Amino acid sequence: MKRSGGAMEDKTQMRIPDQDVRQYRHITLDNLLEVLLVHDQHTDKAAAAMDVHVGFFSDPQEAPGIAHFCEHMLFLGTEKYPDEKTYINYLTQHGGNWNAYTSTENTNYYYDVSHAHAEGALDRFAQFFIAPLFTQDATEREMNAINSEHKKNLQNDYWRSAELLKSASNPDYPYSKFGTGNLETLQQHADIRQKLLNFHSTYYSSNIMKLAVLGKEDLDTLEKWVREKFSAIKNKNIQVPTFQGEPFPPKYLGFRQHYVPVKDTRTLTLYWPIPPEYKLWKSKPGHVLGHLLGHEGEGSILAELKRKGWVNELLGGTLEEGLGFSFFGVQMKLAKDGFDHIDDIINIIYQYIAILNREGIDKWVFEELQSLGEIGFRFKDQSQPIDYVSYLAKSMQRYPRDHLLAGPYLMYEWVPELIQKALQALKPENMFITVGAKELDGKTDKKEKWYGTPYSQFAIEPSYIERLKSLEKEPPTLHLPKRNLFIPDSFDRHPPSTAIPKHPQRYTFPNSTIWHKYDTIYNIPKAYQFIDIITPKAYSSPRETVLTRLFCNLVMDDLNEYAYDAQVAGLYYSIENHFEGLQLIIKGYDCKQLILIEKIAEKMAHIHVDSARFQILKEALAREYANFYLEPPYRRALYQASICLDSCRWTYEEYLAECPTITLEEMKEFIPKLLEYVYYEGLFIGNITIEQAKNTVEVLDKYLKAKTLRKSQLPRKQGVILSSRSYIHRFPTFNPEDQNSAIQISFQIGQDSPAINAVIDLFNQCTTSDGFLQLRTTQQLGYIVWATTHYELGMAGYRVIIQSDSKNPVILEERIEEWIGTIEELLNNLPEEEFTKFKEGLIVQKLEKDKSLKEEAARWKVEIRHPRLHNFTRAEDEAAEVAKLTKSDLVHFYKQYIAKDAPQRKRFCTQVFGKDCPIPELSTPSEHVVVDNVEQFKKTHQLFPETNSLAQYLHD
Ligand SMILES: [Zn+2]
Repeated sequence: MKRSGGAMEDKTQMRIPDQDVRQYRHITLDNLLEVLLVHDQHTDKAAAAMDVHVGFFSDPQEAPGIAHFCEHMLFLGTEKYPDEKTYINYLTQHGGNWNAYTSTENTNYYYDVSHAHAEGALDRFAQFFIAPLFTQDATEREMNAINSEHKKNLQNDYWRSAELLKSASNPDYPYSKFGTGNLETLQQHADIRQKLLNFHSTYYSSNIMKLAVLGKEDLDTLEKWVREKFSAIKNKNIQVPTFQGEPFPPKYLGFRQHYVPVKDTRTLTLYWPIPPEYKLWKSKPGHVLGHLLGHEGEGSILAELKRKGWVNELLGGTLEEGLGFSFFGVQMKLAKDGFDHIDDIINIIYQYIAILNREGIDKWVFEELQSLGEIGFRFKDQSQPIDYVSYLAKSMQRYPRDHLLAGPYLMYEWVPELIQKALQALKPENMFITVGAKELDGKTDKKEKWYGTPYSQFAIEPSYIERLKSLEKEPPTLHLPKRNLFIPDSFDRHPPSTAIPKHPQRYTFPNSTIWHKYDTIYNIPKAYQFIDIITPKAYSSPRETVLTRLFCNLVMDDLNEYAYDAQVAGLYYSIENHFEGLQLIIKGYDCKQLILIEKIAEKMAHIHVDSARFQILKEALAREYANFYLEPPYRRALYQASICLDSCRWTYEEYLAECPTITLEEMKEFIPKLLEYVYYEGLFIGNITIEQAKNTVEVLDKYLKAKTLRKSQLPRKQGVILSSRSYIHRFPTFNPEDQNSAIQISFQIGQDSPAINAVIDLFNQCTTSDGFLQLRTTQQLGYIVWATTHYELGMAGYRVIIQSDSKNPVILEERIEEWIGTIEELLNNLPEEEFTKFKEGLIVQKLEKDKSLKEEAARWKVEIRHPRLHNFTRAEDEAAEVAKLTKSDLVHFYKQYIAKDAPQRKRFCTQVFGKDCPIPELSTPSEHVVVDNVEQFKKTHQLFPETNSLAQYLHD
């Protein structure tokens, strides 16, 4: 092929979303590397991603995990930049982030960095694909990271059930491979390094790679850099690996797999192989079927199954796919009764399929999806550059360049034959069923090889398959959806005539506070409404909290059939509880928001609580509470620290204890009390006027008819002030099978203020990559290793977290303290120019612009909600404080708060001990205050002052 670059390539007929002002250029280098260049004059970050069209499907049979291992190794030094630190340090110093993933047929690497360092980062990144080192030393060490990553996933039901399905597939097709790898699969090979080199030299060829680069520079500059840096990647002229056969040929279908999950959940999934969808992106038949079988509105499978009390949630669509295969799936979360009615549930699904077969799918259904795809593409939110380039590089593997951006969204062609073909594949004999439930405990006879999931597998009775083919006529309650009235039909903007301020403005009324900002940045027909309905009853005891949560769930459950159409049409809502009351969120296209709000308000005021639904939702909620304790240990370590340092915080254990005795009568009596006294506080942002915002509150007020909250009723919570130098709170993992231990150590610094936040952030910025390299890359303590600044209840702190599969928390604590001990030297040895880079990197991060209305809304929300700090110029203030800091300020901060002998050190350490890790005695007298009784601990400590400024707006 001739060189194809320059002007010819500029004439891309690529469709670009309306609001997207970036410029795009698609080029192909001499080595056949395809590149998409994106010029964004407003960006503060540069970003790049490389997608290599090879994944774990190409692992050598005898060495599962090689593709994934190779992905890890590229980060650990290249010929041009041999130091393992180079890449991570460079990105950290310049405000960057990085990551990578290995999937079935792709490996995707991506990063971002402050735009001023775009070229330097590109140069380091390009070397991954040109000359990685794969040193013997790093190879040996990094196998442990792979192993920790696998162990992190061991108790995770998502990974377990995915691997179990793979284990039942055709062993001659690579879908059956174990992609993550672990010590067992890698360490057994004496020539593992050679295997890595072979893998890289076989598959890392420029002609199967796609690169996406986003920068502030013009397209010519970006092109010049890319040509300079990426042309050296070798073109081995290989074919994208493809695979003969299929994962589920007929003899692997017609089975039912029963397994026991880690968490108390009940999942029923039906899988059918359908014709590969990969190339069918113009007609998207799987999307059309998913829309119908996964529908939740009136007449849908889910609505029918909910009415029967069998299923709580349902997901339908293409669940897995690759170049050569697709599975269509229907996945359901079962209610307790559903477990005893699995055959009946499947009958209903087949009755619905029978309707589709008999009545056919009308063209208007396709056209509805078509117009939603069109609207979705036109008004697409911009994502973060790092996510965007990763997505683009992956998309480049699939979509031709003219459709690169629009391909995933648009429905180009109505091809009923293809939909028909996919529908025909959903035959009873083509089905593979999986059931996961605690009820199956003790009723299995096998263990899955890599995760140890207990399961059994048996053939579906031929007589049952025959019955599914001749089901009785479906009930009239089951039917295809009607036309969707929520599809947006107006994209008008409603700008106010007055000047528009930079941040939300406050408007106060007797029963409400409205924060409002009309959007003039993104100019899309969308709005975000966050309305807090503040009520003293929502969190006054664990029991009332459970009742409030159940109330939210009941309202959502009852609304679902009606409001599902809104969600399909890009208008979302939720009702959640928090310690101050309820939060109603409405977001998406603005033109029909009021219709939805009326309906929600009406439902909240006049909900009819059905006894059967109440029992089902209560049971589901109790399981959710119980399941929290099966979360990974590091999450428990963080949770337990929050419980201890918050004056008013109930625990999941307390909620769980209340569940069994809560009755329907109590619920009915509770609702009027919950909504008796309220105050509304809302944030309204986007294409919404102040009048519309007021209208929302009026609608709520009209239905709820509440009295105005009094000052004394305002819910309160404060942070606990640590008075001793060190606290330790230790407990075993709740999941007896979890081999992972975890630790979190937080340092309480002081009340949130620009100066304090700036110094903690800069301290973290200058030390975090060293911590990562010491604790993870060198010592291999675990896969999850973080250090962060953290804010809670108006307090600022610094925190280190490790989850480890090999070391107990006592050793982790020693290692963290050892590392902390080296920081003074690290800071002293930090050259001034390096320090300046870290500072600049942090300032860039702070001043980073929001990429979408969604991000902006989230930022203001943080300022408005409790503890209501209302610092709308936080980013600028903190950046200004960072700019003032010197290296000696950091050393001073370290010596004052963090160092082992720091006079103001206030350390709170939580430790979770995993399986086979007994909790050792602490030596006495201990230097730590041991927290055994959380209530007692809170009672004996002072609280930070109340910062809730809402009180001044309320009457006594
Ligand atoms: Zn990994």
